[in-house]
Amino acid sequence: MKICVVGIGYVGLVTAGCLAEAGNNIVCVDNDEKKIADLKNGVISIYEPGLTEIVKHNEKLGRLHFTTDLKFGVDNSLIIFLAVGTPSAQDGSCDLSAVLSVAAEIAENLHEYRIIATKSTVPVGTHKRVTEVIKSKTTAAFDYVSNPEFLKEGTAVEDFMSPDRIIIGTTNPEVQGKMAQLYGPFMRRGSRILFMDPASAEMTKYAANMMLAARISFMNELSALCEKVGADIELVRHGIGSDSRIGRSFLFAGIGYGGSCFPKDVRALIHTGSINGVEMTIAKSVQRVNINQQERFAARITDYFKGRHEKTILAVWGLAFKAKTDDVRESPAVYCIKKFLDCGMQIKAYDPADPAPVFRQEDAGGKIQTFQNGYDALDNADALVILTDWQEFRNPDFELIATKLKKPVIFDGRNLYDPEIVKNAGIEYHSIGRQ
Ligand code: NAD
Repeated sequence: MKICVVGIGYVGLVTAGCLAEAGNNIVCVDNDEKKIADLKNGVISIYEPGLTEIVKHNEKLGRLHFTTDLKFGVDNSLIIFLAVGTPSAQDGSCDLSAVLSVAAEIAENLHEYRIIATKSTVPVGTHKRVTEVIKSKTTAAFDYVSNPEFLKEGTAVEDFMSPDRIIIGTTNPEVQGKMAQLYGPFMRRGSRILFMDPASAEMTKYAANMMLAARISFMNELSALCEKVGADIELVRHGIGSDSRIGRSFLFAGIGYGGSCFPKDVRALIHTGSINGVEMTIAKSVQRVNINQQERFAARITDYFKGRHEKTILAVWGLAFKAKTDDVRESPAVYCIKKFLDCGMQIKAYDPADPAPVFRQEDAGGKIQTFQNGYDALDNADALVILTDWQEFRNPDFELIATKLKKPVIFDGRNLYDPEIVKNAGIEYHSIGRQ
């Protein structure tokens, strides 16, 4: 099939690459000229396992075409996906300006029937707004589909190739058929396509992210209580996760959720509630707990070094909001690092995906040094702080850590280690929700 994807970020590039892998021809449109020029030269600016290979392979075969020319994409595709960003606006609502401006530009170039499908996360009712924008600018026929994306950064290619389900928000049987044909190659392992009306599809995406964020905040709140009453959140996690009604996912206590989705989507849901006269009590609490948890962890470290902040150097492992991505948008690691910098501490940071350029921009007066190797960051540091749950941090050389740090102390915001093992290596160990 001939497809256009507008917005070639984490979602757009994975969508385009995976659809091309199934034999479709994809026009990839982005208004970021540098990004498109880089992609044409085989430079993929995001870290996502497996993506580079797929993109390069399909580009070579002519199934991926990169351009800034949206008209070319509209002229040469039956289905046009919107995958542009929908960040938070000042008031917490979802900023739809990119979605609506792309919709208007599509309409200006729409002369033949097309299906317009939104992958971006957009609040309930956006289908009406996009449809109105397009109708106001063209008389050409089109259908609109809400098709929210559920991939996770770090496993995005895998998630797209074998989705738990695909949500198709349209009640038009012909459009349902076309979308089912497009997604057919990804349904072979028993995944399901769920058809529903566009409003329910839009709401489903927020409901999913809200539910997952709520599980994380629940465990984080419980971790604070565990610390007070002498329980161990890791044992509690195993205890409840083995209940088939609860399951094991998204039960890890830590330094809170982050990234480009959960924080903004929880905020947007609260806003949608407020403009519709429904107080989103749970969503507000989930958000509050998340902020508390980040503050609690950062405060534990700043309290520990009270009176000597200016002389403290922290080695930090992990900058991204979670493992297997270079995404630092609303990363709890960034939040904590800012708190440390505000106190006058110095940071020596390492992250396997090297999202360092972002940090260099924000760099407060040269107080962040970045390293290509985690152990090099430890020299002369007063403590090691673990902020992201990368696999390579899980079984480190504790003896080397103990030798390199000025005083062997680890603050682990991800509960990566067995406290006994760390203690036996002669390291003072602080983690979340454990003694
Ligand atoms: P992103 O910021 O990585 O990518 C957005 C892209 O859109 C950028 O390349 C940007 O240059 C481009 N863009 C912006 N305005 C444009 C315009 N007018 N014309 C053409 N291109 C334009 O964002 P993302 O993380 O891929 O997220 C995209 C959407 O998908 C968001 O709504 C997000 O909530 C949702 N989503 C994201 C994830 C995720 O894990 N990142 C998962 C599911 C859903």
